[in-house]
Amino acid sequence: MRPADTGAVVRCLSTGGSVISAQPVQKFGDNPVDVRDTDHYTEEYVPSFVEKWDSLIDWDRRAESEGTFFIDLLRERGVKKVLDVATGTGFHSVRLLEAGFETVSADGSAEMLAQAFSNGLKHGDHILRVVQADWRWLNRDAHGEYDAIVCLGNSFTHLFSERDRRKTLAEFYAMLKHDGILVLDQRNYDAILDRGYSSKHVYYYCGEDVAVEPEYVDEGLVRMRYSFPDESVYHLNMFPLRKDYTRRLMQEVGFQRIETYGDFQHTYREERPDFFIHVAEKE
Ligand code: SAM
Repeated sequence: MRPADTGAVVRCLSTGGSVISAQPVQKFGDNPVDVRDTDHYTEEYVPSFVEKWDSLIDWDRRAESEGTFFIDLLRERGVKKVLDVATGTGFHSVRLLEAGFETVSADGSAEMLAQAFSNGLKHGDHILRVVQADWRWLNRDAHGEYDAIVCLGNSFTHLFSERDRRKTLAEFYAMLKHDGILVLDQRNYDAILDRGYSSKHVYYYCGEDVAVEPEYVDEGLVRMRYSFPDESVYHLNMFPLRKDYTRRLMQEVGFQRIETYGDFQHTYREERPDFFIHVAEKE
């Protein structure tokens, strides 16, 4: 593996009395495809990668391509209070605040939250309410009950064991009001596993200046490579969630009804969408 930038400065964010810092470089060790560990995500989102994340997900183009899909979906269901559990650099948190939802922004990465906070100020002077919380212990660190939880941008894929996935979904379930909904998206891994990778590059990752491709694929790992114009290269190791498996887990944790959209459409041909969006109802 080619190491990422080495000149990055380690920045710190103070959260709830503790100071957490991120590593300046990504470290995957001698055999990167052996890294199949839920805890590893905090080491993958190093400061230099986080800073580039916004060029990876061009905000204007992303807003244009997803339109008001999530806003409409939440409004139709009378949602007022939303917990964004995978805030990242804050794209959806800011959009939700702009649309008038009471929004709390959580993430396990202090680096991501720091960037999200400054993005909130930059895009419309919003003061994000940020909480650093790992999903597996969400109820310990975040408080309140929500009409909706959103977990977007192919984030759930960072969980490498079924136990972690079940625990996370149970934590999400517990933080929802009795009639709450979970909105969770994922890459179309069925297509990658069964037919190889192809992306229309239209939805979600709309940055022009970054090449995104899987470097390694098996049933337990998709290792994505992100190459930037300054020749820096970063990776993310992800668990390839099959669509029906994710739906089944949600059901088994207690969600009553799950609707799945493909690239923001109700009807889709199985191999076509780049992304699936699951809307799981608690009641
Ligand atoms: N939602 C954002 C977007 O669409 O741009 C960010 C997506 S990024 C692929 C995944 C995010 O999930 C990262 O910010 C990462 O820190 C967070 N994450 C991954 N695993 C997590 C965990 N176990 N607990 C909390 N956050 C986690």
